[in-house]
Amino acid sequence: MSQARTFTYQSLPMRVVMGPGVLGRLADEIDSAGLKRVLVLCSPPQQALGEAVAELIGHRAVGVHPHARMHVPVESATAAGDRAAELGADGCVAVGGGSAIGLGKAIALQHDLKIIAVPTTYAGSEMTSVWGLTENSHKRTGKDPRVLPVSVLYDPELTLSLPAAASATSGMNAIAHAVEALYAPDASPVINLMAEEGVRALAVALPAVVANGRDLPARTEAQYGAWLCGACLGATTMSLHHKLCHALGGTLNLPHAETHTVVLPHALAYNQPAAPEAVASLGRALGGAADPATALWDLARHLDAPGSLRELGMGEDDIDHIVEQALASPYANPRQVTAEGISGLLSRAWAGEPPTA
Ligand code: NAD
Repeated sequence: MSQARTFTYQSLPMRVVMGPGVLGRLADEIDSAGLKRVLVLCSPPQQALGEAVAELIGHRAVGVHPHARMHVPVESATAAGDRAAELGADGCVAVGGGSAIGLGKAIALQHDLKIIAVPTTYAGSEMTSVWGLTENSHKRTGKDPRVLPVSVLYDPELTLSLPAAASATSGMNAIAHAVEALYAPDASPVINLMAEEGVRALAVALPAVVANGRDLPARTEAQYGAWLCGACLGATTMSLHHKLCHALGGTLNLPHAETHTVVLPHALAYNQPAAPEAVASLGRALGGAADPATALWDLARHLDAPGSLRELGMGEDDIDHIVEQALASPYANPRQVTAEGISGLLSRAWAGEPPTA
């Protein structure tokens, strides 16, 4: 009887088509959205997939733009937008991870085009109305309902090729969204249910996915969990963990999913004493764990994921700078954010020590 019953719940419009083989329904989704000329977007390593998707949808595709890059550099967004305009595109299909979907969002923002997303990682961008653009090493982000995909096709067959290491860290990245949703200032009972179920699904599926990347039932369960975690990200305001990862990625250019994986157990350990209901939910989701932060740390070790910021390329003398950034502007967090607390948390994350409060 302890769950908060005073809340505001604002759901985002969402159309999700999920299951092995649903890529075959992409043409119908494009038609239902009223789109006639779509540009297919993907990252360079996934050009073959982008071309296969264009072939699948036939005359609806006006081209493939295989130039999505991490954190959406503004010049790459401009080039993609220009290409869409030249080709007379009335929409985009973004196939890939957060980079391809982020590029689609940038085009949606600048040219008011609808996007359909076909995610192939667990990052969750397709469930949010948050866009990001990077210029002169500075990433600007904002919220705009126009960047939310009109339809999302989750086909786990497309994730079979995601390498074990990327699957592990992308899955931990998804779990981080649900963890912070559980203690968000705008948390609500619906989101709590989605967060707990998302973490449960990923915690069960990821070890099986890492053991055998071709395990389709495990891939299906992982993507189901990633959808729920992404929806939590889209519906709530993130706190300390996401702030730290944003600072580490933006300032030091550390890799996105790996940074989330390393920081998450430490940020959660810091917040746990001030978030008992989130701890209870996560405990249930993680098989009855009394200390979810340690359980996530153990999960990451089991998945053979990176365990320290040092191995991601961060210098120890960068810690103070990140602490300054974490304190620079106020944001909601269950536990008061202090310089000493964040410095300790980051020092442990840097050295690869186990999490403590
Ligand atoms: P990503 O899209 O760059 O993908 C990582 C790598 O994996 C790329 O090289 C890609 O080509 C490859 N890849 C993707 N799917 C694959 C597959 N199935 N098989 C083989 N290789 C595959 O990275 P990401 O982690 O998915 O996304 C990170 C980006 O998304 C960051 O820029 C982050 O800021 C952004 N993001 C934004 C939001 C938001 O709400 N706006 C949410 C989450 C992440």
